[in-house]
Amino acid sequence: MPPTTTLEPDVNNINYTSSSDPFKYSHGFTGVDQPQNYLFTHILLGTALSFGLAAFVYRIWSLILHKRMRVAVIATLNNVQYWGDNTSSFWPWMKRNLLYAPLGTTQYRREVHITKGISIGTLPSRLRLIIVILYTIPNVLFCLEPVLHTNTAKPDIHHTLAELRGRTGTLAVYNLVLAILFALRNNPLIWILGIGYDTFNFFHRWTARLLFMQVLGHITAWAYNTYRTWYDGEGGWDSIHWMFEKSQSYRWAVVGFLAFVFLVSHSINPLRHAFYEVFLATHRLGIFAALVGVYNHLHLHALPQLPWVCIIIGFIVGELLFRIIRIIRANCGWREYRNGRKGGRGRMWTRASIEALPGEVTRVTFEVPNTWNKKPGAHVHVWIPRLAWWQSHPFSVAWKPPSTTATTATLGPPSIVETGHAGQADRSSNSVVTCMIRAQGGFTRKLYNLASSPAFVASSSSSSSSKTLFASLEGPYATLHSLTSHSTVLLFAGGIGITQQLSFLPHLLRGYNTNTTATRKILLVWCIPNLDCLSWITPFLDQIRMMRNFGHVASIRVFVSRSDSQGGAEGGMRIEGVDISRGRCNVQGVLEEQVRNRVGAMVVSVCGPGMLSDSVRKAVRNVQGKAVVDLVEEAFDY
Ligand SMILES: Cc1cc2nc3c(=O)[nH]c(=O)nc-3n(C[C@H](O)[C@H](O)[C@H](O)COP(=O)(O)OP(=O)(O)OC[C@H]3O[C@@H](n4cnc5c(N)ncnc54)[C@H](O)[C@@H]3O)c2cc1C
Repeated sequence: MPPTTTLEPDVNNINYTSSSDPFKYSHGFTGVDQPQNYLFTHILLGTALSFGLAAFVYRIWSLILHKRMRVAVIATLNNVQYWGDNTSSFWPWMKRNLLYAPLGTTQYRREVHITKGISIGTLPSRLRLIIVILYTIPNVLFCLEPVLHTNTAKPDIHHTLAELRGRTGTLAVYNLVLAILFALRNNPLIWILGIGYDTFNFFHRWTARLLFMQVLGHITAWAYNTYRTWYDGEGGWDSIHWMFEKSQSYRWAVVGFLAFVFLVSHSINPLRHAFYEVFLATHRLGIFAALVGVYNHLHLHALPQLPWVCIIIGFIVGELLFRIIRIIRANCGWREYRNGRKGGRGRMWTRASIEALPGEVTRVTFEVPNTWNKKPGAHVHVWIPRLAWWQSHPFSVAWKPPSTTATTATLGPPSIVETGHAGQADRSSNSVVTCMIRAQGGFTRKLYNLASSPAFVASSSSSSSSKTLFASLEGPYATLHSLTSHSTVLLFAGGIGITQQLSFLPHLLRGYNTNTTATRKILLVWCIPNLDCLSWITPFLDQIRMMRNFGHVASIRVFVSRSDSQGGAEGGMRIEGVDISRGRCNVQGVLEEQVRNRVGAMVVSVCGPGMLSDSVRKAVRNVQGKAVVDLVEEAFDY
């Protein structure tokens, strides 16, 4: 016989504990084991913190080691070779089998395709997968604990499900904190732990999937108990309907749930990459809806997890403010007027000049009204409202001379002025920052089309006002690896990946010339489809080649893969100081040759298509044990 009562249950009141409340297992704390919920949350937090601590210790250890290497090489020139040999087999083993290991044998950056043209993304690395498993297992066990651990204190299934509802709800909100933190571009953990944004993005996706499963468990447990409750002679869907009618909190919960369903389903890899900017914009809206839903659900029921949502809101608002301040600081400043006016200063915002290059690449030169004294390998988020007012895209800073008073309207590509210290800049002048942007399907295609349109080219050469575009740079987001502690630096670039690697050449050469880095030998290997690509960087190459000791320390090898391409040793194309060969690069061969002829410790950096990155990773793993060889991988993908 279904229980009936004449007293109306107060489903909005968590302290309503009437034993005659038929919905007591659907709301409030009846059956919910709050001490256990907190205990398990603390264990999960401890698990996450212990991963963080391990990363932090590794970071500090490698910072100290790299500093020692750098100082020792700078101070005692004959000590270089010591750092190039392994003193034990531990680190080579760790690098080969864990730190640099893909999940299987080779494939890591190359995407997995289910059919031609449809990719399901990349596979996790071995280390990432281990961390995901170690974090997922306790999550699953803690959620299932109410079901697995039944005893006499749990009179029936409704009690067990109430406990499950409390557990999954608590852990879902806790995981939401991590999922949001990991998604932030300016997440301070990136710097504290020395872990790149793409790794945090990976963990963002996994914690989000986990929390979604917990949300599903939370809702299912609630729905089952409510469906099975009879009140005033009604049950089933009527009970569920009655709950929604009586409680605004549940209506907000539905808003949150639908937002989570949307967020998870539109994040699948093929959808995400096919319409990345639409994905980003709608993802932000989805997160907003989810947070509003969860906040109101917790607030109206006065649930103790509410402060956790306030922490999330604090993260988001704090980061947004940080980004706004950063954008204003980077792009807004004073400009010295030289032409037209007699002189003086005026407010200025960043302007960009664009130039179409062969191979569907646009060279974009930004005149920034502030000094950019940043390390090589940094990237910026570029906003050009004329092309897409609601989008900003990440691009590496391919070229940033240490000191320049050039303006985009008056000069061509900015030139190097060697300064006394690697990375030291003239603080009094504006900066010129150059990006090279390969045309894809959206913003970058519009940019290239504009730069190559006859109307724009004509207007650029006539009136100076239409030469430049209003733009903003957000950043710079510096790379975590300076490459200044290794004596042998091997840079691999594939296609447009050269933008990431190029800026290391002048930086390291300057470091060598001023004896401020451990650099003794640099080789840049650039794999390109045809010789046209060389025009992307020839103005910069010319300047690099003119730097002191270029021939002594640095060398550049270009591999041109298309057989129809003219040039190379036989084809007649020559650039002094650049070795041009036809065919694909034999990564393993190049690396082994460099290991044999290395000076001191060696670092290999790669930026390019997935296939190249995977080959370099494999080659680096193969030479572990023969020498100290570190790997740095940068990707143009999240
Ligand atoms: C750290 C970093 C540095 C980069 N540096 C360069 C560079 O120096 N030169 C260069 O040519 N490219 C670079 N890229 C890649 C560049 O950001 C994308 O090619 C560009 O955003 C594509 O824009 P689209 O609208 O034309 O792309 P679409 O044709 O819409 O998409 C093409 C691909 O770009 C990805 N993409 C689209 N928008 C973004 C975005 N806002 N953020 C991240 N990925 C996106 C999509 O997932 C898709 O895989 C870099 C990417 C990253 C993450």
